[in-house]
Amino acid sequence: MNEFDLIEKYFNWNAQDLNSLGVGDDCALVSIKPDYQLATSVDTLIEGVHFPQNTSAADIAYKSLSVNLSDLAAMGATPKYFTLALTLPEFDELWLEEFSTSLKLLADQYKVDLLGGDTTKGKLSVTINVTGTVPKGQALLRSSAKVGDTIFISNTLGDAALAWNQLQQGVEPSQGLLEQFNTPKPQVALGQALLGVANACIDVSDGLKQDVSHILERSEVGVTINLADIPLSREVANYVQETNDWCLPLAGGDDYELCFSVPKENIDALKVIETELNIKLTKIGLATEQQGLKIEGLDKICQSYQHF
Ligand code: ADP
Ligand code: MG
Repeated sequence: MNEFDLIEKYFNWNAQDLNSLGVGDDCALVSIKPDYQLATSVDTLIEGVHFPQNTSAADIAYKSLSVNLSDLAAMGATPKYFTLALTLPEFDELWLEEFSTSLKLLADQYKVDLLGGDTTKGKLSVTINVTGTVPKGQALLRSSAKVGDTIFISNTLGDAALAWNQLQQGVEPSQGLLEQFNTPKPQVALGQALLGVANACIDVSDGLKQDVSHILERSEVGVTINLADIPLSREVANYVQETNDWCLPLAGGDDYELCFSVPKENIDALKVIETELNIKLTKIGLATEQQGLKIEGLDKICQSYQHF
């Protein structure tokens, strides 16, 4: 099987959007409704860096698309298309079958079309470029938090980091923790619901501490967070109680939850979203006049993940 047969067999799916041109030509073509903006983002996942060496093809596919959808979620965008640049060390039909099946399942779930890509030989890496749409001028920016806004976070923090921690120590994590680590759910519905309700938003991929800092720097406000308010799963809460290692939920990374700021007048609307989406949204702090990030109750410095 040559490169073109491979693409045809594993990555040429029918597009859901009939106004687009997908795999098979030099470029993909997309149409966009008037009064909408395109939101586009790219993320690369490298074996040994973003996922452990023995990760299944299905989980690699899931996580690669999911972390990209999470970026769209953070802007409140609706996912539309993605492209896939795949570097493979060898041609392995079983691996490709598993990868492609998992990728298509997730793509169908979020109604995103695979419109093209590139296939090369080398050390395993997956790059996905995802594109969504958002009504003009309404995207949730990092720079729009206002003094007095309440800071919220979705679900719980630290589950993926605890899974990673345990894997490194040769301990088998629970099913729940492993799922959060290998197949994190992008908060797409929440992001869209927050349009017109939240001021600023970011997805927490490199740890709350670092990512909330992006909001306060871009917005030129301060943020005070209360350690006691950080939502934790029972397993992470137990871990923190035993070790006092608050850095794991604060700086561990791979959460893919949304952290956002909401002005007072929209708190009631947020309660409705919480009920309708059946999602846990927790108030963790406030945007303040005084610049900088203050974490009340934290008595040590936590190092966030740095790529270099
Ligand atoms: P070109 O040489 O013009 O860059 P390629 O031979 O790389 O084109 O790709 C042929 C077609 O297959 C293009 O439409 C491209 O977008 C698509 N394609 C290549 N690799 C992938 C992939 N891994 N997933 C989806 N589409 C792909
Ligand atoms: Mg090419």
